[in-house]
Amino acid sequence: MSLFRRDPVTGRWTIFTPGKLLIENISVRHRSDTAPGFCPFCPGHESKTPNETFTIKSQDGSQWKLRVVPNKFPALSSDALPAHETYGIYDLIEGFGIHEVVIESPNHTSDFGKYSSEEARNVVRAWQERMKVLSVDKRVRYIMLFRNCGAEAGASLEHPHSQIIAIPIFPRLVADEIESSRRYYEWKERCVFCDIIHEEQAQGIRILIETENFISFVPYAARFPYETWILPRRHQSHFYKIDDKCRDEFAELLLQTLKRIDIALNLPPFNLVLHTTPCHEGEVGHYHWHLEIIPRLARIAGFEWGTGFYLNPILPEDAAKKLNSNLE
Ligand SMILES: [Zn+2]
Ligand SMILES: [Zn+2]
Ligand SMILES: [Zn+2]
Repeated sequence: MSLFRRDPVTGRWTIFTPGKLLIENISVRHRSDTAPGFCPFCPGHESKTPNETFTIKSQDGSQWKLRVVPNKFPALSSDALPAHETYGIYDLIEGFGIHEVVIESPNHTSDFGKYSSEEARNVVRAWQERMKVLSVDKRVRYIMLFRNCGAEAGASLEHPHSQIIAIPIFPRLVADEIESSRRYYEWKERCVFCDIIHEEQAQGIRILIETENFISFVPYAARFPYETWILPRRHQSHFYKIDDKCRDEFAELLLQTLKRIDIALNLPPFNLVLHTTPCHEGEVGHYHWHLEIIPRLARIAGFEWGTGFYLNPILPEDAAKKLNSNLE
């Protein structure tokens, strides 16, 4: 039976069509390699990328374990001034932005789900350190952090990496989430994400992993098959403000969650995005940072583009069950 479910954060509806319609659209997909060739991120090719903005080295300092470098072909330019212009009724902002790449490992064929705990901790530390520094820039209003894994998920280089883009405007999707969360907060005087965590704990059927300070689960109105969210259990607006202990705990939970996805879905392509509060806002009651993992099994088709509804053939409870099976 099909059913509509409403996401309490955005109010967006997903139509679940378990077992039938469109199931063929999520034919199991595996990460396929991007075209082999010269890799500018491999050790020995450091001169092919701009200078590091952050590095983690081996204990004796002879090798790097992780490098953060400005993107050589940035989507946006860090020199432009983010001046707002208008042409008649149309608005325009010059393409200012700071675009960095986190080269997560020297090992070309490694991947997040295969990392050691230490490697995962290093990656999350680099994300936090760079976001902390970039958030001080007065031109920056929002910092996006994302990871494309597999050519189908938009990765142009196979070498494991994530990307950070600091921009002068709020991305629409995040602005929508923040606005809806604010309305919920004004109505109930509680954070919608804190409420979701309590509800997930009470229902207990969509949770993957729960630790002292974090939780990962398949959201009630997941847009995509096996979509997974990770949230800090205690209310926190800004990702970059996590303390060192929580940061390491988060890295481990992310690693274990990605391992489950890799095992259950046999290395699917996926995207990972971090949603956090805009830089110049302090701690706010209505918005709670979180990470969204989207395995790219389904193709977004005309129906989604045309309506904003999503069609998902896998119920979140079934998705959680599958991700929780096959555990060693
Ligand atoms: Zn490489
Ligand atoms: Zn909260
Ligand atoms: Zn979000």
